[in-house]
Amino acid sequence: PTIPRPVCKRNSRRSAGTSIRAMMGTDPIRDWICGEGGASKITRISPVGGGCINTALRYDTDAETFFVKTNRDVGPAMFEAEAAGLQAMFATGTIRVPKPFKVGALPGRGSYIIMEHINMGTSRGGQAELGRQLALMHKAGKTDKGFGFEMDNTIGSTPQPNPWTSDWVTFFQEHRLRYQLQLAEKQYRDYDIAEKGQRLVEKLPYLFQGVGDIQPCLLHGDLWSGNIAADEKGAPVILDPACYYGHHEAEFGMSWCAGFGSSFYNAYFEVIPKQPGTVSHMWANYLVGKRQSKGRVRHSKQNLPASSYHQPVEDELV
Ligand code: ADP
Repeated sequence: PTIPRPVCKRNSRRSAGTSIRAMMGTDPIRDWICGEGGASKITRISPVGGGCINTALRYDTDAETFFVKTNRDVGPAMFEAEAAGLQAMFATGTIRVPKPFKVGALPGRGSYIIMEHINMGTSRGGQAELGRQLALMHKAGKTDKGFGFEMDNTIGSTPQPNPWTSDWVTFFQEHRLRYQLQLAEKQYRDYDIAEKGQRLVEKLPYLFQGVGDIQPCLLHGDLWSGNIAADEKGAPVILDPACYYGHHEAEFGMSWCAGFGSSFYNAYFEVIPKQPGTVSHMWANYLVGKRQSKGRVRHSKQNLPASSYHQPVEDELV
């Protein structure tokens, strides 16, 4: 449904000294849109479906259209972190992300974020282009501060600490696995998973043996299908991030519900080749071994998808 809206009062005749806020009342979203946002009239506000956490609205105006999310239960910190993540990805000039404009508190309680509205297309866009542009973002999004992010954020509504850490394995052990295991243990009292998780945390350094130099890359951090779309021209768009700087393949942590196909991975690894010791590389080796054991391997790289054309794999085959 569409909610009819009053126009902004910005154009009403007032003396220059009159406070705009006093004039406009207590709607900071409308105030921003009709102030810095450059609109003089909000023509329509419509709800947008598809989100998991927040109330989403589309604001049509006589200037541009804005996308707004509000949350009555949390202060601005959650949206400030979302805006920082969107801004960091936007600044890479690679894959399309909405430009964030404004975050603030709602009167009473709650908070809001205003960002660029993107007209989404009906298709999900090309998988290969998504893989290529995501890899370009990973390549462009660099920092010399280490692994982490400029602030803590949330993944869904679960808190996620991002203190700058010089070493990837330590960061992943402490601030991803151990932290989330502790939350799960506290909330669900599942001691079995906590104990298994603890063993994984301890084994992590062994799993990373042989992995070369790991550079922090800007990650979307919550890349599941609900956060992947395409604009009207079919160009990929990624939304609602939980950004941090991490190992680039950590981006595939949500791939179990992202629906990435082989064309996605092939395009991704053409930009950032597989590196020895990483999961993708081990997986390619595993597949080769499996095919060999079934006697189905002809000694040619044509048997592998393009994404597996890493030198050591080829060496095993030829
Ligand atoms: P939540 O934080 O509640 O999970 P999302 O950020 O996923 O909400 O947004 C909800 C829905 O709104 C998305 O599924 C998407 O379809 C749409 N959406 C998100 N960002 C934009 C945008 N900038 N422009 C247009 N539509 C958007």
